[in-house]
Amino acid sequence: MYVSDCISVNGRGNLTVGGCDTVEIAKEFGTPAYVFDENEIRKNIREFRKSIDENYGGKGLVHYASKAFSCKEIYRICASEKIGIDVVSGGELYTALSVGFPAEKIDFHGNNKTYEELETAVENNIGRIIVDNITELETLNSIAAKHGKTAGIMFRIKPGIDAHTHDFVKTGQIDSKFGFALETGEAMEAVKIALEMSNIKLCGLHCHIGSQIFDIDPFELAAKVMLELFADVKSQTGIELEELNLGGGFGIKYLESDNPKPFGEYMKAVSKTVHGYCEKLGLKVPFIHIEPGRSIVGAAGITLYTVGAVKEIPDIRTYVSVDGGMADNPRYALYKSDYEVVCANKATEERTETVTVAGKCCESGDLIQENTKLQSVEAGDILAVLSTGAYNYSMASNYNRIPKPPVIMVKDGEARIIVKRETYEHVSECDI
Ligand SMILES: *Cc1c(COP(=O)(O)O)cnc(C)c1O
Repeated sequence: MYVSDCISVNGRGNLTVGGCDTVEIAKEFGTPAYVFDENEIRKNIREFRKSIDENYGGKGLVHYASKAFSCKEIYRICASEKIGIDVVSGGELYTALSVGFPAEKIDFHGNNKTYEELETAVENNIGRIIVDNITELETLNSIAAKHGKTAGIMFRIKPGIDAHTHDFVKTGQIDSKFGFALETGEAMEAVKIALEMSNIKLCGLHCHIGSQIFDIDPFELAAKVMLELFADVKSQTGIELEELNLGGGFGIKYLESDNPKPFGEYMKAVSKTVHGYCEKLGLKVPFIHIEPGRSIVGAAGITLYTVGAVKEIPDIRTYVSVDGGMADNPRYALYKSDYEVVCANKATEERTETVTVAGKCCESGDLIQENTKLQSVEAGDILAVLSTGAYNYSMASNYNRIPKPPVIMVKDGEARIIVKRETYEHVSECDI
């Protein structure tokens, strides 16, 4: 009935998430609030893990791409599920290490990591640094030498694939700020340079072609292109690289009309490609890393708001204003992202109205959704925006000095706070 499996309606006609009444959650913890279902997150993680085990005989590792939703508790959950993570900043790395996340299962990404970030990674012996460019490679080699260590790296490769997704979330094509281009020979040159470096161990190659991708073919094509590069490296240097990281990007359901394939299907198809091309190219099957982010947390989270003013502009549109907006969910403002919206306390009523859900920021573009179907609502009603688990809390800002909402984790009908609501003191605490 809803885009996410963990959403339902209870006997009181209220929307539930993970078995908890969302209207009660709103009462107890206030709004706006992010709410996640822990069982749903764990279910998604296990599905990916199982699929790696089945398709690669256990010779692979799932890394949760933590920029989708980063906080201490999600790192604890990943650690308890025995998967890896990837981080893209010193802040994410710090948070993960602060709860004792195993350093060897951390991958560190980014197109412009700072000296300090690289040094922290080397000092903490994190698993793999995914090197983006030659400047970074040289800096890393010298940092590793300074600490008497060898840094295990992979190169970020642009496989030259144009995934059919939003321009801002595409990353595989040559005109991208991420990684080394294949077509120009840049990638091969970098491999040769790295193999000569005394404090670098080149473990393998990485690609990530974009996000919210529904088709399977771009993933298959990426695997093929990457393995051809493995074969080229082997023939030109005699070295057979051991690890292939295929990134993340699996699409999820935001609207009823979205039709993502089960993750297992992508994994099976890509595994077939990997095995087929390895055989054809005379390579042994490398250790496979994957990095799902959105597909682990996206549909496991929702955001709750309280309705304030309802402004009907005759023949134009009806604005339903809520107590949050682009500060807690900038995705509509950034990408015109689709969401399903439900009135949590009228969940059994039909969604008969067509409305625009607006935030409270001083910005006309501060909208959560336009022309969306909603029940007839009034001030005081609770709205739930579904599938906001990925790139919402992690992209939140304090625009207009709005404190960030809390994150509530629900498990087996019990709700607990995992990130506290910010206060005005938090928002101004760095001010002199
Ligand atoms: C963002 C990102 C991911 C995760 O992408 P999703 O679409 O959330 O699965 C994986 N790998 C890298 C390098 C990324 O930048």
